[in-house]
Amino acid sequence: MGFVMNKEDFSKTIEKLSQDYRLYAPVVKKGEGRCLDEDIVRYDFIKDADEIELELKSDYSFKEILLPLSETLFYFTENETKVADRDLSDVLVFLRSCDLHGLQRLDDMYLRNGREKDFFYNRIREHVHFVLIGCTHSYKDCFCVSMGANKIDDGYVFSIEQSNDGFKSEIKDDAFASYFVGQAENVAVSYVTENETKVNVPDHVPLSIYKLDMWREYDVRCIGCGRCTLVCPTCTCFTMQDTFYDAKGKVGERRRVNASCMIDGYTNVAGGGSYRQPKGERMRFKVLHKVNDFKARFGYNMCTGCGRCDAVCPEYISFSTLINKLDAEIKKEAE
Ligand code: SF4
Ligand code: SF4
Repeated sequence: MGFVMNKEDFSKTIEKLSQDYRLYAPVVKKGEGRCLDEDIVRYDFIKDADEIELELKSDYSFKEILLPLSETLFYFTENETKVADRDLSDVLVFLRSCDLHGLQRLDDMYLRNGREKDFFYNRIREHVHFVLIGCTHSYKDCFCVSMGANKIDDGYVFSIEQSNDGFKSEIKDDAFASYFVGQAENVAVSYVTENETKVNVPDHVPLSIYKLDMWREYDVRCIGCGRCTLVCPTCTCFTMQDTFYDAKGKVGERRRVNASCMIDGYTNVAGGGSYRQPKGERMRFKVLHKVNDFKARFGYNMCTGCGRCDAVCPEYISFSTLINKLDAEIKKEAE
C-alpha cells in the first residue's frame, strides 16, 4: 500500500503530520558549512514540506534527537535529586536506510547492553518513530552495500522519496494512511545495490594486528579533532559534567555530554593517567571497535558504511581505505 503525491499533496500531508508530530528531518543550512560560502545539510525540526532535504545526503546524522550533544539528566541539592523534565511529544525522524541500521546499533548499546535500559535514552526513544527516505542512487563515499546497510524492510512507519515530478510513499503502519493526501497506489522503496566505494571487512582480526606499523601513519596525519566521530550515526561515547550553582558544590545539575575517543582528554583517569596518546593508537581503537569489537559483543559490525567520516575529515583520512588496508594486512600476515 502507498501513495503517489504531487507537490501540493505532499505539502498538505506534511502539514497534517505536523499537527500531531514534531518532524525532524535533514535541512540545508545556507552558509553554515566549513567555509562561509558553503552550505551544510544537518537535522532540524521542520514545519513545512519545502524545508525537508530529500535529495542531498546529510553531513550529520539524526542521532542528536536521541543523544543530544549536551543533556541535563538531573538536578541535585544536598539531600535531593530531581530528574530533568524533557519534551516528550511524539517525533517523526526522516532518515535513510544506513541511518535506520545505525539506530539498531544505538538501541543495542543503550537498551540491550546490560541488565537495565538506559532510562534517559529510553524515555525519548519511546516517542520517536521513523520515516525511511528512499535512496534512488548512491552518493560519494557511501559503502553501505559492503556493510549490508543499503536496504531495510522494517522499523519505519512510511517511506518517502521524490519520483518524477512528485513524491511517493510506501505505508508500513496503516495508522499513518489517514494523514496522506494523494493517489493510493502500490509503492516500493528505492534502494541502492552498488556503491563506487567497496570495502572488504575482515572476518577475524588477530591480536598481532594491534602492533602493526600501519597505525603509525595516523600518529602524524590525524589531528585528533573528533569530527569523524561526531558525524557518525553509531558513535555513542559520552562523558559526565557536573555544573555547580554554589561555591561549595552542593547544588547543581549533572549533564551527559558527547565525547570522542579521538579527542584529547578522553582517556584521562583519576591520578593523572592518560592512555592512547598517539593518534595512531586512537585510530586503531576506533577502527577495530567499528569492524571487530562491537561484532564480538553484538554479532554484527558497528559501521553502516554511511561514508560521513570520509567526507568530513580535514586531513582526508578515509575510513573505507583504512578497512581495506586492515584486511590486506591481515591477509598478508596469514600468507
Ligand atoms: S564509521 Fe564512518 S562510515 Fe561507518 S557509520 Fe560511522 S561515519 Fe559512517
Ligand atoms: S576527522 Fe580525521 S583528523 Fe579528525 S580525528 Fe577523525 S580521522 Fe583524525
